[in-house]
Amino acid sequence: MSEEHLKKDPEKEKMKVKSIKKMKEIMTAYYIDAKTAAQNGKKVAWITSGGPVEPLIVMDAIPVYPENHGAMIGASKMGVDLCEKAEDMGYCRDICSYARSDIAASTVNGGPIGGLPAPDFLVCCNNICGTVLKWYEVQARYYKVPLFIFDTPFCHTEFSSEARKYVRSQIDEYIKFLEVVCGKKFDMDKMKEVGRLSLQGQRLWQDVLDTTMNKPAPMSAFDAFFHLALIVTLRGTQTAVDYYTMLLEEMKERAAQKIGAVPNERYRLLWDNLPVWFKTKWLSDKFASYDACLVADTYTSAWCGSLEYLDENDFLGSMVEGYTRIYLNIGVDEMLKIIKKMIKKYDVDGIVMHSNRSCKPYSLGQYDIMKSLQRDTGLPSLMIEADMVDERAWSESQIETRIDAFMEIIKQKKG
Ligand code: SF4
Repeated sequence: MSEEHLKKDPEKEKMKVKSIKKMKEIMTAYYIDAKTAAQNGKKVAWITSGGPVEPLIVMDAIPVYPENHGAMIGASKMGVDLCEKAEDMGYCRDICSYARSDIAASTVNGGPIGGLPAPDFLVCCNNICGTVLKWYEVQARYYKVPLFIFDTPFCHTEFSSEARKYVRSQIDEYIKFLEVVCGKKFDMDKMKEVGRLSLQGQRLWQDVLDTTMNKPAPMSAFDAFFHLALIVTLRGTQTAVDYYTMLLEEMKERAAQKIGAVPNERYRLLWDNLPVWFKTKWLSDKFASYDACLVADTYTSAWCGSLEYLDENDFLGSMVEGYTRIYLNIGVDEMLKIIKKMIKKYDVDGIVMHSNRSCKPYSLGQYDIMKSLQRDTGLPSLMIEADMVDERAWSESQIETRIDAFMEIIKQKKG
C-alpha cells in the first residue's frame, strides 16, 4: 500500500470519538470475566435491563444481560437466524426478538460471542414488560437454576404508599434470596458504596447525554446507543464512573471546539423506542445526508430517568421508587410529559418514532403520543415500522421514502 493510502484523513480523525476504544476494552474484559466466572469461583446472574443490579454487585455476582446480548446479536446481523431457530422451537414470531434470539442462542451457543455464560441464578424485574417473566421462566428451567422475580406495580401517575411498602418488602426478599444463592451475608456498608457509585454513574450518564444541548451536538443518539452499554452492565462500579468521566470530558472538549456528530448540523431530531440495531449506520447516514442529527432519545435516557427519586443517603430505600417509576412502567400521559420536556431541553425540530414490532410496551401508546405532540407542539413526527433485531420486519425502500418526505416537511418548516 502506498504511503498516501496509509495517511489518515485529519478531518475524519477529528470526528471520531476516542473513548470508543476504551469502551471496547472494558466490554471485552467484562465478557471474559463473565465467561471464566466458574473457574474463578464467581457467580453469574442473568438480570433484566431495568432490574435492580446494585445488590448483585454487592454480592460480587457478575450481572449478565440477555437484552444487551440481544442488541449485539442485532448489530452483528445474526438476529434472523436465531429468531428463526426459536420459531422452529415453537416460539411465535410476535414474541420479543431479544427473547427469541436469547432462547435460541442458549441451545446452540450462538451469537457474536458464542453464547452467554450459563447463569447460576436469574433475576427478573417486570418494570419493563411482562414478556420477561415467561422468558426468564423458560431459561430458569433450561439451565435448572433458581429465579427471583422482582415485581413492580405499574405506575400510571402516582406512586402510592402501598406500592412503596410492597416493593420495599421485595427488596428484603431479594437480599435474602441473594444470601442463599451466593452463600454469604449481604454487606450493608458495601451497599452504601455501590449505591453511591450507581448514582454517580447515572449522573455522569445524564451529563454526557446533556452535552447534546450544544449546537452542534457533539454526539448523536446513535453514539448514545453504543455508550449506553456500561451504564446497563456495570452500573454501581468504579469502572462505569471512570469511563463516563472520560467520555464527558471528551464530549465537552468536542462541544468547545464545535465538533458536531453531524458536521453541518441544521436539524435536530428526537428518537423514540429502541434502536434498530442492524441499521444504525444506515439510519445515521440517512439523517446526516439531510444535515439532521438525532440529538436525544427516550431509550438511553431511561438509565438516568429516575435520578430524581434516588437518595444517596438511602439508596436501598429510594431504589423502591427509582426502579418502579421507570419510563416503560408509567402511563402514556407521563411519557408524553417526559418527551415534551426533552423537546424543549434539546431544542428539537421533529420526532422520529420507531414502532417496534418486538417491544409492545414501548410501541403501543406511540400513536397517541404522536397525536398529542402534534396537537401541543406542532412539531412534525415520523413513524417507522421496524424491529430492533429481526431484519424481516425492515422494508428499506418504504422507510427511505418516509424519511425523505419527513425531512422535506422539516426543511419547509425550518427553512
Ligand atoms: S418486550 Fe421490550 S421491554 Fe420487554 S424484553 Fe423485549 S425489548 Fe425489552
